[in-house]
Amino acid sequence: MNTPATLAETRDAVVSGARSAVEICREALGRIEAANPSLHAFHTVTGERALVRAAEIDSNRNAFRGAPLAGVPVGLKDNICTNGVRTTASSRILEYFVPPYDATVVTRLHAAGAIIVGKTNCDEFAMGSSTENSAFGPSRNPWALDRIPGGSSGGSAVAVAAGITPLSLGSETGGSIRQPAAMCGVFGLKPTYGRVSRYGLLAFGSSLDQIGPLTRTARDAAIALGVVAGADQADSTASHEAVADYAAALTGDVRGLRVGVPSRLLETGVDADILRAVNTAIEALRARGATIVDIELPHAKYAIPVYYLVATAEASSNLARYDGVRYGLRDRQNELDAMYSGTREKGFGAEVKRRIMLGTYVLSAGYYDAYYLKAQQVRTLILRDYAQAFERVDVVAMPTSPIPPFRIGERVSDPLQMYLADVFTVSANLAGLPAVSVPCGFTKPVAPKPGVAAAGEGGLPIGLQLIGRAFDEATILRTADAYERDTEWWKQAPPIANR
Ligand code: GLN
Repeated sequence: MNTPATLAETRDAVVSGARSAVEICREALGRIEAANPSLHAFHTVTGERALVRAAEIDSNRNAFRGAPLAGVPVGLKDNICTNGVRTTASSRILEYFVPPYDATVVTRLHAAGAIIVGKTNCDEFAMGSSTENSAFGPSRNPWALDRIPGGSSGGSAVAVAAGITPLSLGSETGGSIRQPAAMCGVFGLKPTYGRVSRYGLLAFGSSLDQIGPLTRTARDAAIALGVVAGADQADSTASHEAVADYAAALTGDVRGLRVGVPSRLLETGVDADILRAVNTAIEALRARGATIVDIELPHAKYAIPVYYLVATAEASSNLARYDGVRYGLRDRQNELDAMYSGTREKGFGAEVKRRIMLGTYVLSAGYYDAYYLKAQQVRTLILRDYAQAFERVDVVAMPTSPIPPFRIGERVSDPLQMYLADVFTVSANLAGLPAVSVPCGFTKPVAPKPGVAAAGEGGLPIGLQLIGRAFDEATILRTADAYERDTEWWKQAPPIANR
């Protein structure tokens, strides 16, 4: 088995002249061509632009010597605006939408020498946990093609897991980077609320949304975060808090680090293989000198209802702009009202409509106090749970997902079951905290569906989640990096990555 190149290896090869950016870019495009028909990681491939940019970097190699992402191919979740390149959010309503500007993260990637090779598949408007809500069909898990890759940033996780790009950007509202990272066996980072500019991110839940990297290693995520983080004149929610040197924080030293484990929360509903792998990972941190502390998160059990009230309320307001007047699809009708409703009826999928209706309901005059206001109050309690925990510990550890990737189609008819998969991820978004998912093992082998080729040893990837204090990405990245030094899970790649 070959481990696909990391971001750091790719950049070093370009900077040293060992490989040209054009050669690396061609390779990434070749892998998209070979693997995308079975994986559907990418909607749009920007091959021509990418090769032009790669040639520019090669002919100016000296100018890019200090560039942290020189020649690194990147996949971008398709809800991040790219100037002149279709940005669909996997929705019919934006199927032909071409933004006239770049998101701030795109401008920053570009300046750091990155090469955007395409736009990745996701759940429609990032609403979902499996990519099955994409209007253009699901992505497939490279470890088991009959299973979901997680979501909503599923395509971004697949691109990294299948060795297509060493870096993708995804977005999170309630776990959409960490959960697919866990399910595809790659690293995912959701930064602190406000750490990364959202200018050019198609809004879902504005008090929750954050952009973040998916990579093979903690180090690669640290490098990528250093590039995209920081204040932005175009986004007043982007914090002025100084951007740390995240890569320099990766010392391998976790002696004296206090790791909190909410063991009561993990007593029920967690898959046995996942619990075993996560406990073993926590033991590995102990062996490296960390202290393990039992903590309580008494309100964590309300995280799912609170999240699905807050997120849908905000979504119903954010998605009001898609009315056929300003962007994308327009259902041509003689009456204005019929044009609005026809556009939204034809443009949005079932899950998006469900959430707009739910969100509109919880914000309505008669129900605002009972639902939205109550949810905001409980949100504060969840935040306080974490504040109390972080008085005693430096990091909170738990599984990223309670369940391994399920079969495509298995849960689509039961939205509530789908929502429950987010139980361990949504609270970090509600509390605005940074969190990562790092590969920590595999389930026991699972039988493929008849007629579907078995992938790998047949086991499915598992992720360990580490949550940190606000703006303390450095500590969770250091913890994850130390763990990677003791384990080889991050080196595993599915067979499709080597074809
Ligand atoms: N799965 C969650 C949802 O469906 C989270 C989505 C996200 O983080 N964008 O809303």
